[in-house]
Amino acid sequence: MERKKRRSRSPGLGWLIARAFWLVVLGGSAWCVYEQWRLGEWPWSRSGRLKEFVLLSRSEWGAARPETTPTKMGRPSRLTIHHSGGKAMLDEHRDSVERSIKAIQTDHVRRRGWSDIGYHFVVDRSGRIWEGRPITQVGAHAGSQAANVRNVGVLLLGNFDLQTASSAQLTSLERLVESLRARFRIDRAQVFSHREVRGDCGLGPTKCPGKHLEEWLSGYRKGLGRTPVRVGAARDAYRAVPLAWQGVAW
Ligand SMILES: [Zn+2]
Repeated sequence: MERKKRRSRSPGLGWLIARAFWLVVLGGSAWCVYEQWRLGEWPWSRSGRLKEFVLLSRSEWGAARPETTPTKMGRPSRLTIHHSGGKAMLDEHRDSVERSIKAIQTDHVRRRGWSDIGYHFVVDRSGRIWEGRPITQVGAHAGSQAANVRNVGVLLLGNFDLQTASSAQLTSLERLVESLRARFRIDRAQVFSHREVRGDCGLGPTKCPGKHLEEWLSGYRKGLGRTPVRVGAARDAYRAVPLAWQGVAW
């Protein structure tokens, strides 16, 4: 009788805490699944999650094989940052991003007559990092053969005269740049905008990569990083990337 009486009373504090706990756990899980679905990552993508960032390989965006035998890059000594330009790009969905990268490759191969997509890496608005042209090969992004020599091309999807990069996009960009610098021992001062590279090579002007990315770049070169990455950690991350350029001795 005593026990029955106690149970019929209003729920105690412990019961409420347990309820709140499960609400948070289930709500959090549902939110995570929703976010994955919203970005087109559900069911889970096949990409490997690395310590520093996720790198999606060429097959993930359905890259066509290179048209001609590529020229070897040698050890990279500088990096060039680009934007895709045109309309502002706010779409983060995976399918749209894959289509955009594929369209860039088609444009570079069919219209410009290059062997493959010109950039080595593409960073989308949600912060995904995609493999473009393998880094073992000279890119086609800076404007001339001389400008492309030992120069890694990094493209951010969007028009950064019209929009600012998302926080996730800038974080991924910085992680990628830091890791590449650590891997190839590239000085911070050797990270350029496309506009600067064209100017240095006496080529015509360009607005690429847009005023907002130029701002980020000048801050980055002054050491105003968002996400400092330890050199050792970056090297470990690169060792884990199962790409064609693994095992290449520079
Ligand atoms: Zn550019």
